[in-house]
Amino acid sequence: MRAMVLTRQREPLELRDLPVPEPGPGQIRLRVLACGVCRTDLHVVDGDLEHPKLPLVPGHQIVGETDDGRRLGVPWLGWTDGTCRYCTTGRENLCDEARFTGYDIDGGYAEYAVADERFCFPIPDGYPDMQAAPLLCAGLIGWRSLRFAGDATRLGLYGFGASAHIVAQVARHQGRRLFGFVRHGDEAARAFALELGCEWAGWSDERPPEELDAAIVFAPVGALVPAALAALAKGGCVVCAGIHMSDIPSFPYELLWEERAVRSVANLTRRDGEEFLALAPQVPVRTEIETYALEDANDALDRLRRGEVRGAAVLHL
Ligand SMILES: [Zn+2]
Ligand SMILES: [Zn+2]
Repeated sequence: MRAMVLTRQREPLELRDLPVPEPGPGQIRLRVLACGVCRTDLHVVDGDLEHPKLPLVPGHQIVGETDDGRRLGVPWLGWTDGTCRYCTTGRENLCDEARFTGYDIDGGYAEYAVADERFCFPIPDGYPDMQAAPLLCAGLIGWRSLRFAGDATRLGLYGFGASAHIVAQVARHQGRRLFGFVRHGDEAARAFALELGCEWAGWSDERPPEELDAAIVFAPVGALVPAALAALAKGGCVVCAGIHMSDIPSFPYELLWEERAVRSVANLTRRDGEEFLALAPQVPVRTEIETYALEDANDALDRLRRGEVRGAAVLHL
């Protein structure tokens, strides 16, 4: 089968011919139909996340067809032990032994993939393969982040990429008011945020017209954390949705005072997936995608690195 393979971090993926993988115990084989390109893939390729399996087939937003004709999605959480203190208390996203798709396990930048069926989700009917792929990480992690924003009415979204473009639709559906923050001078991103239902959109170093009850930071930029704190009302929370971020600069305690909080979101649970994939067709969430051929995965990653992707990048197989 054709696959895009990471042999060494900080080098481009290489198109290789690999044997079609054989499912191990508990695994199923999927013919990959589409695979979303996530910022996490970029962190793996660029070496921000250390110690991936090498060589590695990246990709953890897989829409595939099983040998018996079912359409399933494969997310980032690929395996957990089911026995640790996290797994047994509803927090399998924090499992000590968790294994992740496209990081510890070969992923979907290939014509075939194998996955533990217990961690796969049925793809909701009505979503074409390509449009469904970004739901599997941008959507799921976005949903988990939105849950941690609690009942915030005035919600700030920092960084308007794949995840924010989905979360904005869900948050509007829930009746929240949205404020979008994009990179200074990125008029296209600002217009995109307004199209997706933000009542105000501005630069990330600006103050919104009103204080925010919560903010979700999607962009991997640590300086956004104190910026978002400064925009919060008393008791508000900043949720950091990414797996990697540049260092957070020091800031005066005053920004945290009055019960403001900062927290991160790590991975996903299967419950997040079930909830979100049931909700998405009701909103209905519509994903905006850029399509790439498998062998053009490096181009997709380059555009993502430069912040040029509108919505989500998806590989077509
Ligand atoms: Zn565990
Ligand atoms: Zn992801």
